[in-house]
Amino acid sequence: MAASMSPGDSVKHIRYLAAALKAPRITEAAQRLADQARDAGWTHEDYLAAVLEREVSARNASGAELRTRAAGFPARKTLEDFDWDAHPAIRQQAAALASGGFLTQARNVVLLGPPGTGKTHLAIALGITAARHGHRVQFATATDWVTRLTDAHRQARLPRELARLRRYGLIIVDEVGYLPFEQDAANLFFQLVSSRYEHASLILTSNLPFSGWGGVFGDQAVAAAMIDRIVHHADVLTMKGASYRLRGRGIDSLPSIRTTAAEPDN
Ligand code: ADP
Ligand code: MG
Repeated sequence: MAASMSPGDSVKHIRYLAAALKAPRITEAAQRLADQARDAGWTHEDYLAAVLEREVSARNASGAELRTRAAGFPARKTLEDFDWDAHPAIRQQAAALASGGFLTQARNVVLLGPPGTGKTHLAIALGITAARHGHRVQFATATDWVTRLTDAHRQARLPRELARLRRYGLIIVDEVGYLPFEQDAANLFFQLVSSRYEHASLILTSNLPFSGWGGVFGDQAVAAAMIDRIVHHADVLTMKGASYRLRGRGIDSLPSIRTTAAEPDN
C-alpha cells in the first residue's frame, strides 16, 4: 500500500504508475510539486490537480504541434502576427472564429478578397488555432485537392477517401479560382463539399466573388449548388485594401521616406 511506503519508495511507485499510464510528466511533476505543496500548504486536491494539469497541458501542446506539422501548411502564420489595422471590419468576426466554436458546429469560413490581402495567412492561422483546439487539419490548394480526389477516383476509392477526410475537423482549400476546373474536377470538388456539409468544417479562400465561381467550375448550376452548401452555415469575411506584399515593397523603394525616417536617429 502507498500509505506505508517511505518517500523514496513512493517516488519509485509513482514512476512505475506514471509509466503504466503512459503519462511521463507525472513522475517529474509529482516530485517537484510535492515540495511546493508542502511549503505552500496545498490541500491534497490542489496537489493532485496541479500534477494532472502538467500532464494534460503537455499532452495538449504536443498534440497541437503534431497536428500542426501534419496539416501541410505552406508556412506558419498566426492570428497574433496578423496586422489588424488594415482590416478593422473583420476583426470582430475573426476574433469570434478564433474561439474554435465554428468547428464544433461544422460551420465553414470563406475568405474573399484580392491577392495579398492576407487570406492564406488567416486560413493558416485559423488552422493552427483548430489544431490547438484538438482538431485534425489538412491544408492544400484547390488544385491540389482536385489532384488528390482525382487520384482517389481513378483508384476507385473516392468514397473511402471522402470518409477518411471527414475525420478531419477542418479542411482548408486555398486559392479557389486561380485556375478554372475541368468538368470532372468540378464534380469531384462538389463531392468534397457535399460530403462535409453539416459534418465538418471547410475554410475556403478565393480572389473571386461568388458571382465569379460559375466560371471556375465551368457550370453555373454546379457552382450554385456548391455555394449553397458552403454558405448555408458559414462566416464570409471579405478582405479589402491593397496587397500587403506590395505595400511593404512600396515603402522600402521610396528613398525619400527612408531618408526622413532615418534622420532623427543620425
Ligand atoms: P493572399 O492569400 O490574400 O494572397 P497572403 O495571406 O498570402 O495573401 O499574404 C501575403 C503576405 O503578406 C504573407 O506573407 C502574409 O503573412 C502577409 N500579410 C498579409 N496581410 C497581412 C496582415 N494584415 N498582417 C500581417 N501580415 C500580412
Ligand atoms: Mg493566398
